[in-house]
Amino acid sequence: MKLRKVTAASAVVFALALTATACGGGSDKDSGSSSSGGGGDKIKVGIKYDQPGLGLKTPDGSFAGFDVDVASYVAKELGYEADQIEWVETKSADRENALARGDVKFIVATYSITDERKQKVDFAGPYLLAHQDLLVKKDSDISEATDLNDKKLCSVTGSTSAQNVKKDFAPKAQLREYPGYSECIAGLQSGSVDALTTDDSILAGYASQDKFKGQFKLAGLKLSNENYGIGVKKGDTETVNKINDALEKMVSDKSWQKAVDDNFGPAEYKNEPAPKIGELVQ
Ligand code: GLU
Repeated sequence: MKLRKVTAASAVVFALALTATACGGGSDKDSGSSSSGGGGDKIKVGIKYDQPGLGLKTPDGSFAGFDVDVASYVAKELGYEADQIEWVETKSADRENALARGDVKFIVATYSITDERKQKVDFAGPYLLAHQDLLVKKDSDISEATDLNDKKLCSVTGSTSAQNVKKDFAPKAQLREYPGYSECIAGLQSGSVDALTTDDSILAGYASQDKFKGQFKLAGLKLSNENYGIGVKKGDTETVNKINDALEKMVSDKSWQKAVDDNFGPAEYKNEPAPKIGELVQ
């Protein structure tokens, strides 16, 4: 996809084919869930651990964020209460392998649906639309992607954000790739990098942290459309369908909006409306 500045008006909606491909496995129903007797009594769910507002492991060992709320709602619809969920950290570069190995049943981790990833995993959703943006120090004069040439730009290995930088909007930036965005934030704070790029949803969460208050600003660029999906093992159409039903219910019973208000409210992140299941904004 050629990246361009995206406006709501220019965004075109394409249908997402949700049917399983012929090469899918499809038989490993218990991957990511441990069973005793018939039904699984635990379900393993992949999330991020270091993304405030989305997926965060707090110092007391609990988990919070929009992705955590979506995952908890979906798990409940699949028959698992909160105390039956075993959270597993799935960093950006680990997600496809975690699903292929059966480490987790599904992944809710700011995971954009892309054609490349669809070769390896299946997706339910989308359940949120975000956009790639830049986070810089408050006094930085970087305000456009073209300002990034020759600048030190941080992003995460295995993310669409890092890929888009190289392919499209800042091929001449000095890209530093780390395993997680929290390492980029540390670099931005210390001055070892000039900017951090990823989804605006993630950047807003960091910028609003008490410890960073007033230090950073978002450029406000919509550099891409990131359609967040819930990743499942390739071929597990049954789980995809169940998760899609759960997501539809989450929107219609207003739990989706509540999760948005609870988790994005503090960061003042202005999210897009709930996407329609099976429709991607390109
Ligand atoms: N949504 C993008 C992706 O799936 C960036 C965020 C992330 O690394 O999780 O690659």
